[in-house]
Parts: sequence; C-alpha cells; structure tokens
Amino acid sequence: MLTTVKEHANRIKSPGQMKKVLDGLDPNMSRLFVPWVLRNPRYIRAGIRLARSYKKTEKLRREAKEAGLRVPPFLILSITSQCNLSCAGCYAAAVGTLDNRPRTECSDARKTLDWAQWYDIIKDASELGVFGFIIAGGEPFMFRGLLELCESFNDRFFIILTNGTALTRTDHKRLRSTKNVAVIVSVEGSEETTDSRRGQGVHKQALETLTRLKSSGVPTGISVTITNENYRFWMQKKNLDHYVKLGILVGVFIEYIPVMAENLTGDTCGSYDKTLMLSPAEREEFRSRVLEYRRRNKLYVIHSPGDEDYFGGCVSAGRGFAHVTPSGDLTACPVSNLATHNLSNTSFREGLASPLFEAIRQNEHLLTNEDTPCALFGHPNEVQEIARSVGAYTTDTREV
Ligand code: SF4
Repeated sequence: MLTTVKEHANRIKSPGQMKKVLDGLDPNMSRLFVPWVLRNPRYIRAGIRLARSYKKTEKLRREAKEAGLRVPPFLILSITSQCNLSCAGCYAAAVGTLDNRPRTECSDARKTLDWAQWYDIIKDASELGVFGFIIAGGEPFMFRGLLELCESFNDRFFIILTNGTALTRTDHKRLRSTKNVAVIVSVEGSEETTDSRRGQGVHKQALETLTRLKSSGVPTGISVTITNENYRFWMQKKNLDHYVKLGILVGVFIEYIPVMAENLTGDTCGSYDKTLMLSPAEREEFRSRVLEYRRRNKLYVIHSPGDEDYFGGCVSAGRGFAHVTPSGDLTACPVSNLATHNLSNTSFREGLASPLFEAIRQNEHLLTNEDTPCALFGHPNEVQEIARSVGAYTTDTREV
C-alpha cells in the first residue's frame, strides 16, 4: 500500500500534467491544489483525467471562437428554485430565480427542469467545450439526484454552492467517493453576522458541514457576500486562517450587488440597500489585503469584481460564463433575469449566438464596472434598451 505522497508522485507518470494545466491558469492554483490532490489519492487519477479534459475543452473553445462562437469554460446552473432558507438580501429571490411556492399549481413557464433535462443541457454544453459547471439555486442539495448528475460526467468539474444546511446523510456518504466535485459553503463572517442574515443556527451548521467534508476528503471552500459591514472581518488574517484550519482550499469573496430587478415595463422589484456596497476606497483597501493573502497563504482567494479585470472586465454573456435558470432560460449571468432562449427547447449553441449575448459582448463599455460591483448593474438603461431591441423576455417566474 502506497504510504507517502512521494511514492504516489513517483508511481504515476503525469501529475506534472495537472500542474502544467493549473500553472497555465494561475501558479497560485498549482501551489495549493497539487499537494492537496497528492494528499488525497482518490483524486490523483481523476485530477489527471480532468487536466486532460481541460486541455481538450480548451481546444474545442478555441476552434469555436475561430468559427465565430464564444463558448465559456464555465456554465452556472441554478438547478432548483427551492431553498430551505430565506436569507436577507438573497439575490436569487430578487431576480425571481428563487420561488418556494408549491409546484402543484405550476404554470408551464414556472415549470422547473427535471434530472433528464439537466443531463441533456450538461451534455450539450460539454460537447461544445464547457469544462466546469457551477451548481447554484436556490439550494442545490434540495435537487434530488444532484451528485448522480455530477458523477455522470466524470471528465467535467462541478462546483456546488450550498448554504451548508441541506446535505443529508446520504449526500455525505456519496461525497466520500466523488472525484470531480468541490463544495463551497456560504458564510458571512462571525457566527452573529451569518445568523443575522441567514437565520439562527445556520453558521454552526455550515461549519459542521465543512468539518464533515474535510474528514471525507472533499475539496471545499467558502463563499462570502462582502459588504461594508463584514469586509474588515475578512481582512483579518486570523479569521481566514480559522477557515483554512477547517480544510478549505478556496475563498470566494463576491461584493454585494444591490439587485434591483427591472422588468420590461419599467417596474422595479427587489429591495436592496445600496448603502451596504463598498465605496471605491474600501474596495481598494479590501482588494490589496486579499491579494496579499492570496500570494502568501494556503488559500486560493477569488475576489469579484476585482479579478474580472484580469479578463478585461465582466465575463458574463459567454465570455467566461453564462447562466441557466431553474426553468432552463439562458441569461448572461445569475443577477440578470433577461433571456431570449430556453435550453429545454433550443441548443446551447443557439443561445450563445443569440443577439442578446452578441450585443452585450460587443458593447465593451457594458462590461466595465464604473465603480460598481457589477458591470451590467452599472448600465441598467443600456441593458434594458438592448433587451427590448432583441425581444428579450424576463425570466422572473413571479410575473408569469
Ligand atoms: S441560501 Fe442562498 S438561495 Fe437560499 S435564501 Fe439564502 S441566499 Fe437565497
């Protein structure tokens, strides 16, 4: 029985391939993930398979681009409109992705996709060159057969964004053998901060889930909505170190976006407090600390909107990712509720080539953040004008 990491590394010929791919993305990634994979042997072969698959999808995307089609490396799937929590400031609720009303009196437009339909969408997107799928919601672990779906595509990588309170014993048991799934748990900061936004006891449950996943050898991370109420908490090294001890590899810090969804008749819905947004000075302070922590420590930190600059601005509308709602509508990103195509009756290729996506990608200025945490949010009128001009519809099921 192989006992040391070195023996593992010597035995298999090509962990270097995994390292090469991660180095190509960001050397910080390979510095963190390769040693972790070697410490968790069940991921070694899977890691190499995923590295090879990433190279293949990169080639597919390059060929598609040469043929005029922009295929993103990632697709965000809001796999369910159901959630067991009702957090203050839930963006999924604001844009109408979340809909906890009973399914029985569902209208067609409100029908959410079933397992087989999601399987077809993932297969279609994979064949075009999508490598990774970010599973959101609602609460993904409320979708029956979630892990089976992920394991059906063992050469694709799945990142599940969860509130950490809905995993069952069966889910935990199954996660002990998954090899292509990472789990990101949402927290806000201290126990008090998380519970005040997400509900009494949620913080404790979220940390228990992280601890159980660590003992099951599942790659984990945390996702935080950064506001001017919690950003200083996350600037303290001791607080980040606390989570690193819980085994997390990734910290996703997404700045608060006061989503105020506007439907096509100009009415607004959603109730957000712009005062929670970071000021440009606070953003700069937070970002410099995040980057310093990323350079020095055992945590891969992702900061949005900051990191988009590396990709030349907002990466929505197929530039870096796109988003599918629980009903199958293809939107530019999770905080946009405008679409022209539904993937239950059209192909992903048609959706990516849609006039809506083309218009957003071609209007470069729409992809610049203008001191707001979200480019599209920073240009509401232009986005609405484009939507009207291409005959887009709202995906907000509450209006149907
Ligand atoms: S867990 Fe997520 S989807 Fe559910 S209410 Fe909270 S923020 Fe919204």
